[in-house]
Amino acid sequence: MIQLKGIGDYTASAISSFCFDEPRAVVDGNVYRVLSRIFGIDTPIDSTQGKKEFKALAEELLPQKHAAEFNQAIMEFGATACTPKKPLCATCPFVQECHAFRHNQVHALPVKAKKTQVQDVHLNYLVHAKNGAITLEHRSNEGIWKNLYQFPCVISDKALSEKRLSGNKEYQALVKAKNPPELMEAVLHKLSHRNLHIRFFKVEGTFNGKHQFEKVALNDLSEYPVPIVIARFLEKHF
Ligand code: SF4
Repeated sequence: MIQLKGIGDYTASAISSFCFDEPRAVVDGNVYRVLSRIFGIDTPIDSTQGKKEFKALAEELLPQKHAAEFNQAIMEFGATACTPKKPLCATCPFVQECHAFRHNQVHALPVKAKKTQVQDVHLNYLVHAKNGAITLEHRSNEGIWKNLYQFPCVISDKALSEKRLSGNKEYQALVKAKNPPELMEAVLHKLSHRNLHIRFFKVEGTFNGKHQFEKVALNDLSEYPVPIVIARFLEKHF
């Protein structure tokens, strides 16, 4: 069966176990998680060594009779009780034996070799302050910082110098500038899957009327929730 094109070990094992009740261990994501936690195995589950190791252990545990029920049960247990984020350890029948539970490693197992790719994002904030008021924009779009306020922003694929920002089309569409932008501060803000390279530029001029920006009195800023990185900037400069 496994010699057929497109049929990997998981599918072959599942077919022979569920359709023909052959004693073949089926190892899916749920099974990797349950076994790695109960037995405390930290070999990466996405490595060749890990696949071999977990398969061998699952085969060893498999009863000769009722293999299909066993496979089904362990998968079900992983999907409903030993879940990735909130496993039901308090009511788990394996709690006494479970290595991960006893060693406080429940959330550290299973291990994956390939880490989530961290994406670099460049945010160029336009800081426009005049007559005791500052220009802010409401973030109504989905994603991080939804419903918070921020400075009008130009997103770029690399860091922008003052000169490059001046020549940036998005910037030109946003601002009718009186003077070139002036870099005030650059910070790196790290999130779990994104590195935000943030530059704050002082701008002088007027914003294009099409955009829904608000002029907020500096005295009223506390009523406008902003991301922590902007709160720190405001505290330092205003
Ligand atoms: S004690 Fe928690 S981590 Fe261990 S097998 Fe049970 S549910 Fe999973």
